Amino acid sequence: MTFTLHGIGVSKGIAIGKVHIIEHEFLEIPEYCLPKYALKEEIIRFENAIITARQQLYSISKRIPKNSTVDVAVFIDAHLLMLEDSLLTKIPIDLIHEHQCNAEWALKVQSDNIIQAFNSIDDPYLSARKNDVEQVVTRVQRVLLGYPDKSELIVEDLSNMIVLADDLSPADTILMQHNGIYAFVTEYGGTTSHTAILARSLGIPAIVGLRQARPYIKPDDVIIVDGLTGTVIVDPGKRCLRYYRMRQHEARRYRDSLSKIKNAPTITLDGVRINLQTNIEFPEDMLAVKRVGGKEVGLYRTEFLFMNRIEPPDEEEHLAAYTQVINALKGGVVTIRTLDLGADKQIVDNINYTKSSIVNPALGLRGIRLCLKEQKLLKSQLRAILRASILGNVQIMIPMVSGLQELIQVRHIFNEVRTDLSKKSIKFDPDVPCGVMVEIPAIALCIDLIAHQVDFLSLGTNDLIQYTLAIDRGDEAVNYLYEPLHPAVLRLIKISIDAANKADKPISMCGEMASDSRYVRLLLGLGLRTFSVNPESFLEVKKIINDSNINNLEKPSQKMLNLTSQIEATNLLEIINKRDAQL
Ligand code: PEP
Ligand code: MG
Repeated sequence: MTFTLHGIGVSKGIAIGKVHIIEHEFLEIPEYCLPKYALKEEIIRFENAIITARQQLYSISKRIPKNSTVDVAVFIDAHLLMLEDSLLTKIPIDLIHEHQCNAEWALKVQSDNIIQAFNSIDDPYLSARKNDVEQVVTRVQRVLLGYPDKSELIVEDLSNMIVLADDLSPADTILMQHNGIYAFVTEYGGTTSHTAILARSLGIPAIVGLRQARPYIKPDDVIIVDGLTGTVIVDPGKRCLRYYRMRQHEARRYRDSLSKIKNAPTITLDGVRINLQTNIEFPEDMLAVKRVGGKEVGLYRTEFLFMNRIEPPDEEEHLAAYTQVINALKGGVVTIRTLDLGADKQIVDNINYTKSSIVNPALGLRGIRLCLKEQKLLKSQLRAILRASILGNVQIMIPMVSGLQELIQVRHIFNEVRTDLSKKSIKFDPDVPCGVMVEIPAIALCIDLIAHQVDFLSLGTNDLIQYTLAIDRGDEAVNYLYEPLHPAVLRLIKISIDAANKADKPISMCGEMASDSRYVRLLLGLGLRTFSVNPESFLEVKKIINDSNINNLEKPSQKMLNLTSQIEATNLLEIINKRDAQL
């Protein structure tokens, strides 16, 4: 019997295949006491298990296909880093001494403590990191208990299979992709989990959060996964299969046609040149940027440098990361955004940078607010950016600015850092442009007062929508209100573009709205001329721009600013997208 289940689509694409179920294994952890004389040997056993777990991860990283994207190595590195951390390597040893217990039990006690600490913070990003801790601990426990490396078990041929699991680690995902899986579906996990991010960068259709899937789906059932809508169709009929095969075929043809425009200029049918840039999170993302022919970075989210580690990166680490990106672009603009930690972008914060914002993190100490409080963080980052500025075409972008006062403070710190570098005869570009993100409605509304104080502006619609409509972008319960077409959002975008043009300052959009194919023409019609998009969306957005006629888009886009009904707005958007807006 055919039936449909719904989860959260986190990586688009359609896959049709048989189900392979990976059962969650329950590890029974023994607890026993040891005589004092046996403790030394037990500690050696524990240390050897950590070494073996590390070797397993190294061996996985060697099996990563050469053409794989970036993130892959980053995810393995994150687990390797955890295996270096004293929380997992030293404290269990103390516990073995203190309680005269076996290594498995000591590790369990310590991992329970860590997980409890994660649980006390209600945050989707942190709970995804909790999974990483569990995965690393399970790996070590398996070694201690003498089980074979689970990654070896996944080496079985999974071609044409769709994996269904309660949850998957990034390392499992990499191996499965290597072994030919079509797609995966998990019962847990959110859009910001590492595994979801990885699926997107590996191009594997994926659905997460499909609760209670396993009672309904059996091994070898044929299912269809639509990673865009989050739909799973179980036991599809002939007509259904034909329809989805046709869609797969169309998607393939579309992708092939897109690769042909990789080297083409980005220009509309009526001859308006559009600046198309990319968003990156890791220096290794430059591989994906190169693959699609990207020449500029409009948003480099540097907070990822701070994640999955205890201590913040130092100036040299910042510099090394920026140098990698700058060298990869060979002269193209690199917009480095200063640290935007807090709210949805949490870190393992043992220094308690963001602790005072637990009440309401999205409205608390995040982005530039945090940097102005913890100025050491900002200063070492600014020093590194300035030092990197002589290597290429760098710009600095400040997130979460809510008013002029913050800008004045940033400028003050910026000047201090410059003076210090000059005193030490360290070279930097004295004219590095400095811009702000327009992501708080207050800034959009008085942008005419701010624009002449900065070198450029960039619309961060992810937060602009969150703050305009008062909906937490990470809260599933209010996700239905997340509406880029709301006239309040569109008006703020329009006000910002017009004011920037009037002040003769460049303005771009680096929020997800720019990467979403549905809104590209509307944004062109509202006057946007610089889009900064995910590498995966780059060619699709370019194609839409190259097939658009701005003359035909201005009027209907203007009309959108006055539509309060969601249905009317959706209908008009459809017309804009279908007919090249010849209204
Ligand atoms: C935004 O808010 O639109 C943005 C690009 O920044 P982030 O998603 O990193 O908050
Ligand atoms: Mg933002």
